Amino acid sequence: MTEIIEGINFIAGVDDMIPDSHVYVIGEPSSQDLSIIDAGLMGKGNYKLQTIKKAGIKVEDIKRIIMTHIHLDHIGCLNEIREKLPWVELWVHDQEAESLEQGDERTVYGMEMFRNMCQMQYGLKDGDFTFEVNKKLQGGESLEIGGTVWEVLHIPGHSPGGIALYHRTKRALIPGDVIYADYAIGRFDLHGADASELKKSLGRLSELDVDILLPGHNRVARDLPEGYLEETAKQWEPYLT
Ligand SMILES: [Zn+2]
Ligand SMILES: [Zn+2]
Repeated sequence: MTEIIEGINFIAGVDDMIPDSHVYVIGEPSSQDLSIIDAGLMGKGNYKLQTIKKAGIKVEDIKRIIMTHIHLDHIGCLNEIREKLPWVELWVHDQEAESLEQGDERTVYGMEMFRNMCQMQYGLKDGDFTFEVNKKLQGGESLEIGGTVWEVLHIPGHSPGGIALYHRTKRALIPGDVIYADYAIGRFDLHGADASELKKSLGRLSELDVDILLPGHNRVARDLPEGYLEETAKQWEPYLT
């Protein structure tokens, strides 16, 4: 686990046949009120929890898991983590919370062909991603958690209920799979994706002052060039119609 800055820790995803999402652990160390952002791929739950323990963090201090979105590479090992930490709450944006509560797994798998392949490969069955959601996020709220304040932005396009978490004073952004380092953005061909919504979401992110970009995959960028988000949005604009 790597400390990005105080109150934000990073666990790199370890990709398998499918990518494994990164995990961020947020909250001041002394608060005993930590949050995990995203879980990761099937089979990676133990690795994520062991990494947290090795860093000297008490897993008892982890109070909730906040999902940037519910794609399989982010939610795959949620069951494994909840088995070890049965008290943790699950916080998801309203639009994807409904899918989880109703056992509608179309957004989780993204496409039918992928569902069949993953179920075979990982021994999953229909209904494995049915969850009760403890807090349904709307976007626009400020979460005061673990001694830190994170603003929630609803940024659909890559998925219908994707969110970003933004720490205004530390200029840090956790955008899920909507935008990455190196001028990349998330795919927009899966179930519930919408290119024109993604364009709007990138536009909204462009208005934020961000130095530290903490995406769901690939490189973490600690010193973004000025105007990076805006430039990325601009480069992709012709493809997002
Ligand atoms: Zn995704
Ligand atoms: Zn992902």
